[in-house]
Amino acid sequence: MSGAAGTPAFLPYGRQSIDADDVAAVQAVLQSPFLTQGPEVARFEAALAERTGARYCVAFANATAALHCAVAALDLPPGAEGVTSANTFVASANCLAYNGLVPRFADIDAQTANVTAATLSACVTAATRVLIPVHFAGQPCDMPAIGALARERGLRVIEDAAHAIGSVDAHGIPVGACAHSDMTVFSFHPVKTITTGEGGAVTTNDAALHEALTLLRSHGITKDPARLRTNPGPWHYEQERLGFNYRITDLQCALGVSQLRKLDAFKSRRRAIVSAYDAAFAGLPWLRPLVERPGTDSCFHLYVVRLDFAALGCDRAAVMARLAAAGIGSQVHYIPVYTQPWYRETYGTHDGLCPEAEHYFAECLSLPLYPALTDADVARVVAAVRALGSGA
Ligand SMILES: *Cc1c(COP(=O)(O)O)cnc(C)c1O
Repeated sequence: MSGAAGTPAFLPYGRQSIDADDVAAVQAVLQSPFLTQGPEVARFEAALAERTGARYCVAFANATAALHCAVAALDLPPGAEGVTSANTFVASANCLAYNGLVPRFADIDAQTANVTAATLSACVTAATRVLIPVHFAGQPCDMPAIGALARERGLRVIEDAAHAIGSVDAHGIPVGACAHSDMTVFSFHPVKTITTGEGGAVTTNDAALHEALTLLRSHGITKDPARLRTNPGPWHYEQERLGFNYRITDLQCALGVSQLRKLDAFKSRRRAIVSAYDAAFAGLPWLRPLVERPGTDSCFHLYVVRLDFAALGCDRAAVMARLAAAGIGSQVHYIPVYTQPWYRETYGTHDGLCPEAEHYFAECLSLPLYPALTDADVARVVAAVRALGSGA
């Protein structure tokens, strides 16, 4: 894409890909009887269940709401602890706090920036009840090992797969199948791999969790005749527990169904761009990409490099400004969650808690990665990044 006067378009670090099919799908719902609570929600849920191999799926207004309800569905006692990654978006930890649980933070593996069974295990105490591994940048965590840890210590597991729809682990298991977890949560924010505008979903193989998630999404209300305590007439409904209005609309789910059809195409383009970047940056002494574990087939959400700012002779803000001047967006994923003011003030967390996550944070930068990037766009990013080293 080029600007009017031949100025190259600005390349953000991520963005959605919407085509005519997507527009038509949303328009059809707009002209149908149901804008929300119609057939498209169930259709999207069925498509996600089929794609991931999970028995059940419940779609939500966003992944933050989905995480809130996933933790609530476990009915854990207040004051119990949950462990998530230090290297994640705040929502992965906030879902514990919403439910009166205490968030703890596991350190990461330097090569993948993911938590491991060992780093999670180091945070497990007698009060721990749930693990929330995050599949950072789209690369699946080592779920067989994390599942084994959970079984050994009697813990529940929620996978935060906001980055990882379409990813397949080294054993051929799609993220979302819940082979080693109770639930998996996806996000469909426009910056993620497929979008519904705002949106999220939980997959599970557990009928009781599916039922709890469905209730929690919509005020805790049921109209199911089999569940009602009394049934005086067709107008009757009962509130069984304290739920929320976290529903997603039919407009959004029609977009989701249409986007999901393109997931394989998005994935192969994302993987091709990652390979091109890796090849172009190989041998630069001041740049290290993340490493994909052998056999893993990640649907990459982010392309992250670790930069040696001392060797480059400029700090991260200056690097981001130089890239921006060349029309290239970049972003930092992530500030360790426990260093946020609210976490420090509420839980007394402090610097030094997760040294590897802090070291990684000091060096990381995400470069543009989305399916609509052309080979020429990729070449522009490569040239601008390599130019950072002139004089290094
Ligand atoms: C984006 C994101 C979320 C929250 O997703 P929303 O749909 O924006 O609520 C949660 N966890 C991670 C790791 C994310 O990247």
